[in-house]
Amino acid sequence: MKLGFIGLGVMGAPMAAHLAAAGHDVAGFDVNPAAGEKLAAAGGRAASGVADAVAGADIVITMLPDHPQVEQVVLAPGGVLGTADPGTLLIDMSTIRPETSIEIAEAARDKDIRVLDAPVSGGQAGAEQAALSIMVGGDAADFEAAKPVFDAVGKTIVHVGPHGAGQVVKAANQLVVGGIYGLVAEAIVLLEASGVDAATGLDVLAGGLAGSRILELKRKSMVDRRFAPGFRIDLHHKDMGIALAAARQADVALPLTGLVAQLVAAGRAMGYGSLDHSALLKVVEQLSGRVPAEV
Ligand code: NAD
Repeated sequence: MKLGFIGLGVMGAPMAAHLAAAGHDVAGFDVNPAAGEKLAAAGGRAASGVADAVAGADIVITMLPDHPQVEQVVLAPGGVLGTADPGTLLIDMSTIRPETSIEIAEAARDKDIRVLDAPVSGGQAGAEQAALSIMVGGDAADFEAAKPVFDAVGKTIVHVGPHGAGQVVKAANQLVVGGIYGLVAEAIVLLEASGVDAATGLDVLAGGLAGSRILELKRKSMVDRRFAPGFRIDLHHKDMGIALAAARQADVALPLTGLVAQLVAAGRAMGYGSLDHSALLKVVEQLSGRVPAEV
């Protein structure tokens, strides 16, 4: 299949490489030229721009930071909707606000371009191991047509509802992930401040009811204070904003989500925006006076 892939960052680079390895003809574009070169080395082709990546593609995939970049790449003059052939399927796998996914689907209908919102969970490791969870909003027939792409990059692949539903599920995912990171950070601070070895304590937690993928995968790097991203606090700050806006839209109260959003905002304000979201530990430590303020 001929694929265009736009946004070759932490997530997009390994996803595009998996698609090329699965035998697809992948033309990738990123504003960072080094990312295109990396894709070319992995069996794809570095496209010179959006129009070049989209030309002749059966399916176009976008994996961009937030809605302004998706709007620019998809809706702006010279973007995907302006250059793709009628009948092309656009799969936006970025995490953005649900209303933008719905707007794009509406704008695409006029051009006879089909759209799915298909954000992912599983982090950099999930992208590298082609083991992402993919939550898909849009029409069932388009979901079926996208299966070859999803199968090459994901493991848990679910059609969750109409346009925008994938993004709502992702917002729910992000509030749970943020909450768990915040609580693991608090557990580490409590253990260390009480003179208990945090690594040993968390090993026990991981085997009991408190066990989670986050404890399984990240407890060691958190206790060791290794915070290279991964998933940046800046991006999680964006996602907590999406979750709170979705809650407002749905007219529901999510008090813990509000608290976690403030913790993430504090991390960003303290200068940790480019660290992994497990660096919420630094925020909780600072709130408890456990480390001197820095940055
Ligand atoms: P990233 O910043 O590493 O990658 C985004 C890429 O898009 C960058 O390489 C950037 O140069 C490129 N880009 C930006 N504007 C562009 C434009 N106009 N045209 C072409 N390329 C452009 O981000 P990421 O971590 O790969 O995340 C991408 C999306 O996936 C985000 O929405 C994020 O919330 C989501 N996500 C990330 C993770 C994670 O663990 N990193 C996990 C799940 C979901």
